[in-house]
Amino acid sequence: MEIPFNVPYYTGAEVGFIEDVLARGQTQGDGYYTQLVSALLESKFGAKKALLTTSGTHALELAALLLELKPDDEVIMPSFTFPSTANAVMLRGATPVFAEINPDTLNITPETVAARITHRTKAVIPVHYGGISCAMDQLMALTDSLGITVIEDAAQAVNASYQGKYLGTWGLFGCFSFHGTKNFTCGEGGAILLNTEDPAILKRADILIQKGTNRKQFLQGEVGKYCWVDQGSSYTPSEILMAFLYAQLQAMDEITARRQKIHQRYAEALAPFVNSGVIKMSVIPPGCQSNYHLFYIILASESLRDRVKRELAEKGIASAFHYVPLHSSPMGKRFGYAPADLPITEDLSRRLLRLPLSTGMTEMEVEYVISNLTAILERLSQ
Ligand SMILES: *Cc1c(COP(=O)(O)O)cnc(C)c1O
Repeated sequence: MEIPFNVPYYTGAEVGFIEDVLARGQTQGDGYYTQLVSALLESKFGAKKALLTTSGTHALELAALLLELKPDDEVIMPSFTFPSTANAVMLRGATPVFAEINPDTLNITPETVAARITHRTKAVIPVHYGGISCAMDQLMALTDSLGITVIEDAAQAVNASYQGKYLGTWGLFGCFSFHGTKNFTCGEGGAILLNTEDPAILKRADILIQKGTNRKQFLQGEVGKYCWVDQGSSYTPSEILMAFLYAQLQAMDEITARRQKIHQRYAEALAPFVNSGVIKMSVIPPGCQSNYHLFYIILASESLRDRVKRELAEKGIASAFHYVPLHSSPMGKRFGYAPADLPITEDLSRRLLRLPLSTGMTEMEVEYVISNLTAILERLSQ
């Protein structure tokens, strides 16, 4: 049996919606499906405003632009994340500052963030790894008291919540990804949630996303012609992508339930190995409602991790690891970090292994992964 690491899932409604776009005759953005998707995101998650973007990366870049980051500013984030989190800050000339993670969730904590705060700290970007929330209540209390802005990198956390409040709606800005590897996808896409009623921010977001023009105001009949009024770029996704995404988001809870079943089966089957200390695995802390984006195990050493990965591959099972921590990657080293500066991040990223988790995985495929993995773990732990 061949088990790929991640297979895109289609609900079956995508093509019909795309055909409808062609019939409607508007393929550029800001049309019928873009409005449906943003209304769905706003009502489902309780966001004040949801703007669609061409990627999660662009949502982060837009957040950094809206925040008007300057070269002297520092932004605290985990080192255990995708480069886009740091690039968004660097593209504004500001400096990413890497904080250590909690070994149970691989998320930054209020304590690790507090240790990095200086008078230059302008923002914090918590990353909700695998759809598990950072301790947002405490983190918001800390940042609010110091006047520091929070931009959530909720790229992996669409439809996940903490204490009943959806991720992406805690900070001033929340950034989603609809990349092909995420739970809900349109191949490449993203969204920024603007959790504010500040008219200056809302108006500026409409301009930045439309190449620095007041085209939105023009379309709404507020100005007679549109022109260049600010900086900006082209962050608006095509209607074709939004039609595809609309089909996916309509099935959001069904997709989440399917992933939950796979996640729970992995957790149940691997629990004996956690109890005997052979591995650690994904945990969902109290208060967190996951979207089950991924499932990982942590082996006792890097060589053991690599060996399990190899032996799974021999059985046709693809597994993966990530991230090369940003602070010890070639780019991060240019900031003067040494690997030992963030020892938990450095250690866990070398021992982590992600198991295949696709929305459409059959029970037989899940059981095939489990029987092979448990056999390998039993042999290695003797
Ligand atoms: C996927 C991801 C991104 C980037 O999203 P894209 O849509 O691929 O640009 C950013 N941050 C994290 C944590 C991600 O997992």
